[in-house]
Amino acid sequence: MGKVTGFMEYDRLAEANLPVTDRVKNYKEFVLHLSDAEAKQQGARCMDCGIPFCTTGCPVNNIIPDFNDLVYSQDWKAAIDVLHSTNNFPEFTGRICPAPCEAACTLNINADPVGIKSIEHAIIDKAWENDWVTPQISAHKTGKKVAIVGSGPAGMAAAQQLARVGHSVVLLEKNSRIGGLLRYGIPDFKMEKSHIDRRMAQMEAEGVEFRVNQNVGENVNADDLLAEFDAVILAGGAEYPRDLPVKGRELDGVMYAMDFLTPQNQVVAGDTVANQVMASNKNVVVIGGGDTGSDCVGTSNRHGALSITQFELMPQPPEKENKELVWPNWPLKMRTSSSHEEGVSRDWSITTKELIGENGKVVALKGAKVEWVNGKMVEVAGSEFTIKADLVLLAMGFVSPVQKLLEVFGVEKDARGNAKATTEGVDSYKTSKTKVFAAGDVRRGQSLVVWAIREGRQAAKAVDEFLMGSSTLPR
Ligand SMILES: Cc1cc2nc3c(=O)[nH]c(=O)nc-3n(C[C@H](O)[C@H](O)[C@H](O)COP(=O)(O)OP(=O)(O)OC[C@H]3O[C@@H](n4cnc5c(N)ncnc54)[C@H](O)[C@@H]3O)c2cc1C
Ligand code: SF4
Repeated sequence: MGKVTGFMEYDRLAEANLPVTDRVKNYKEFVLHLSDAEAKQQGARCMDCGIPFCTTGCPVNNIIPDFNDLVYSQDWKAAIDVLHSTNNFPEFTGRICPAPCEAACTLNINADPVGIKSIEHAIIDKAWENDWVTPQISAHKTGKKVAIVGSGPAGMAAAQQLARVGHSVVLLEKNSRIGGLLRYGIPDFKMEKSHIDRRMAQMEAEGVEFRVNQNVGENVNADDLLAEFDAVILAGGAEYPRDLPVKGRELDGVMYAMDFLTPQNQVVAGDTVANQVMASNKNVVVIGGGDTGSDCVGTSNRHGALSITQFELMPQPPEKENKELVWPNWPLKMRTSSSHEEGVSRDWSITTKELIGENGKVVALKGAKVEWVNGKMVEVAGSEFTIKADLVLLAMGFVSPVQKLLEVFGVEKDARGNAKATTEGVDSYKTSKTKVFAAGDVRRGQSLVVWAIREGRQAAKAVDEFLMGSSTLPR
């Protein structure tokens, strides 16, 4: 523990953000990492409690008290070694993780938690600046070949772990670039894509082979993969979006959030995208209050929308949680993202009844307030309203993986249509099909980047054990 009295002396520090008026003019990141002095002070707030609930709250079990202490003593090189021992890609999580570790921080019981995510961000940025992130090339080759289908954070983490213990790893991706939702879902203003490119270079040096434009089940045959490789990991994500079955759904100007977000990321990457739908000078309505909806808000502001309204079906959460009831778990409470701060009108308990069109184009949304009575949604009498809408973005989450990927491998599914595989015991991450494993959103359903990294790492260990009889990889 760095400074015994640090938690009493210093307040939590927020990372500085560029002003809204500047940042909405482009798609660049706008969160600045802490200075050395700020990070030192924030590290000093860690109480190094006997039971580090933060470590359990973090899905990759980052050894948080240790790196907090090392940052307090300004031993940044040791800090990145500790951080990398549990997390392959802290530059991703240090930017876009919702930080369940901070909800679990003991200081959070009666004060503000340690800024763990901001410390993580500062450590990894310093490590890259100092060329401390180098390839870890395996000294020997096992002669075993592993194919990984899907290059999101789960596939990338699994690939890196397996290459480091000497397996020949091929990462197959149906899109033309590697990264999954990190590349084509999450906007650049939350995470610039150069972070993925830099990791790809490291992974390539470690022996990972990337194959893009490989759509398994379409232009790549699943049986051919099973014949060529000793093991296959399915890491295809949960891409099937939830629809809105109301009158007017078919109108022009009503679209899934990903069909709006992906082209913008492609344009930022320098691609030419034909017929990109822009929010410029439009009244935008975003349906769905989660991360995807928030990214639609941030992108619409950068396009120059006339107005942006975001509706959520569930009731407005409380401003603050009752910590005595929920700590150290992730609380349900009001969350305002940086995209919301850039301008949006938000409302909760709203159902969409109809989308109204003129000449085949959406012009308005008819909605109503709802309340929940005995667990059932009931419309509030007389609450119906109509709002102008030239662009309606459906961001109500994702239902399941695309089923075809599971079907071409003949793997059993769970009740929600995910690849069925446990995460515990000798059958960890194994699907019903011999030598086929599953990790990330394809197995657990729509989740978070940090959970995908965890599952990729753990699946890599399970595959290594399957191939070699035992594994030195951490779980
Ligand atoms: C808009 C948006 C914003 C988000 N924001 C955040 C955030 O801020 N923080 C956070 O923690 N999480 C966020 N998430 C969730 C997070 O991105 C996902 O949980 C995470 O990326 C899942 O990782 P994955 O590797 O399992 O799958 P994915 O990232 O979905 O990657 C799966 C990959 O598999 C490929 N694939 C699928 N089928 C095939 C096939 N047949 N052949 C070859 N390749 C295939 C896909 O093209 C894709 O590249 C967000 C999600 C969305 C949609
Ligand atoms: S990965 Fe997420 S949960 Fe884990 S320490 Fe970093 S911010 Fe916290």
